[in-house]
Amino acid sequence: MAINLFGFVLSRYELNATETNHEYIHSLQQRELLWIFFYLFYGLEWLAKLFLYRSPQKAYLNLSFEREAYAHQSDLLYHESRRWYSWLSYLYKPNN
Ligand SMILES: [Zn+2]
Repeated sequence: MAINLFGFVLSRYELNATETNHEYIHSLQQRELLWIFFYLFYGLEWLAKLFLYRSPQKAYLNLSFEREAYAHQSDLLYHESRRWYSWLSYLYKPNN
């Protein structure tokens, strides 16, 4: 469990490469949304998905930002081929 605040990752343990990459993807998402809009959209999408899925965990796992990060966290070179706003393609694809 880690949290990425404005590009600074807080965690109780040392993250492995996959987890670090997951957080790096969030840093890229944050940067392209000028940080504040990332958190604004993250919160609004979470509320919408909570309403849709009726489960905080399912809402979290179906956030577009999380779905992109989980889908590519094992690809340590993803940042090289990633297009800006790639998370948008995960908005409407149901996951769980
Ligand atoms: Zn995440």
